[in-house]
Amino acid sequence: MPWEVQHQHGVNLPQIGWWLDAQKSQARSFVSHAHSDHIASHREIIATRETASLMRLRVGGRREEHILGFGEPFTADMGCEVRLHPAGHILGSAMFHATTEQGTLLYTGDFKLRPSLAAEPCATPRADVLIMETTFGLPRYVFPPQEKIEADIVAFCRQALADKVTPVLYAYSLGKTQELLQIVGGAGLPVMLHANSLKMTRRYAELGMKLPPYAPLDVHHHAGHVVIAPPMQNHLAPLTWISPKRTAIASGWAMDSGAIYQNRCDAAFPLSDHADFPDLLAFVAKVQPKVVYTLHGFAKEFAATLRARGIEAWALGQQNQMDLRLG
Ligand SMILES: [Zn+2]
Repeated sequence: MPWEVQHQHGVNLPQIGWWLDAQKSQARSFVSHAHSDHIASHREIIATRETASLMRLRVGGRREEHILGFGEPFTADMGCEVRLHPAGHILGSAMFHATTEQGTLLYTGDFKLRPSLAAEPCATPRADVLIMETTFGLPRYVFPPQEKIEADIVAFCRQALADKVTPVLYAYSLGKTQELLQIVGGAGLPVMLHANSLKMTRRYAELGMKLPPYAPLDVHHHAGHVVIAPPMQNHLAPLTWISPKRTAIASGWAMDSGAIYQNRCDAAFPLSDHADFPDLLAFVAKVQPKVVYTLHGFAKEFAATLRARGIEAWALGQQNQMDLRLG
């Protein structure tokens, strides 16, 4: 294939002079979304307006921002045309699509095929070379229907409130929190947000997302509310002062049997902002690539799955020391 794909602390496309989600600061990197494992203090970035804005909350300093709307063309060096497409992962999350005379390349970043209440619907543009995330790349990761997950979360909260216990939902502050707010607040339940979750949610509102009402987490008046807070391991101080409480984690890893124990929660709901195994396969079928490179999670296993189905596929590897040159 004509594309040179290097992998070391992110993906590098030396052919066109841009990194993709470089994890260390680089001269130029596309930033697919503002989760902390996809951002660093680069000199120049390509990103959507939403990602650039959310990134400013997390990475200080100045940088040159090439802000692209979805579908808007950008001409990079060496005659390459770049367009961004929605990835459906969190607000503003984007895939990177490059067109050269030698063919097309699509880099997904993190993506979710099923519709989210807090992200743009995922696109599936055709490409010759596909570099995709494969977080849930094993057949056992099949998420229940979205309506069931949402109904279960709302029922958990209602039951706790009826029992005069505060329901606490642990979720990442960027993306998952706002999806939970849409689900729980949308069902008419009053919501309070931990300070970190609040900061990101306010930025979502500033960026134009319509959200149900929410309030800052209040030490004295949280009774009768659903509390959304970052996962416990991220807390500086665990929420011991909320008592009595009933806790749940919202994560795709809730599919694993140990999820409740590992997160020290009372319940676990598989609300994910990633594609599950069937959606990873469905995505490949829609993009119709000639070759696939897999990244993150079960990358080796998913590449093997694709090869067994007659699609050329290679894992880009998870070790940071790796430097593959696939010319
Ligand atoms: Zn992410």
